Amino acid sequence: MFDIVKCLKEKGYKVTPQRIAVYEILRNTKEHPTVDMIYHRLQPLYPTMSLATVYKSLEVFKELNLVQELNVGEDKFRYDANVNQHPHITCLGCTKVEDVDDEMLFNLLEQVSSKTGYKLVNQQLYFFGYCPECKLEN
Ligand code: ZN
Ligand code: MN
Repeated sequence: MFDIVKCLKEKGYKVTPQRIAVYEILRNTKEHPTVDMIYHRLQPLYPTMSLATVYKSLEVFKELNLVQELNVGEDKFRYDANVNQHPHITCLGCTKVEDVDDEMLFNLLEQVSSKTGYKLVNQQLYFFGYCPECKLEN
């Protein structure tokens, strides 16, 4: 299993309980939280922790390629501990961000590659719409 403490130490980064907690939240959620969401979730556990600590932790994890930053067109970023390239879908109603099965992405990449002749190295794919719950209200 991946050891975040060992990883931080090896790369010469400070290991603090708050820093570990930020990573654990990301690793255990599929919600793609914003900085504020992470901060609020950690507040009860670490009342003295500042928002800056969350930002700083995320900077470190980004540098180590342990989290990826997502821009789904909001005025804030989302964070994901799954650093593999995979498509996301955003609800325009409740603003949740979810993963899209990457088996479909694989097929799409094959087609893009064969149609364009490109050797693909990266992509960013975001879908927008209304989730099943929000769809019912509209
Ligand atoms: Zn929704
Ligand atoms: Mn994701």
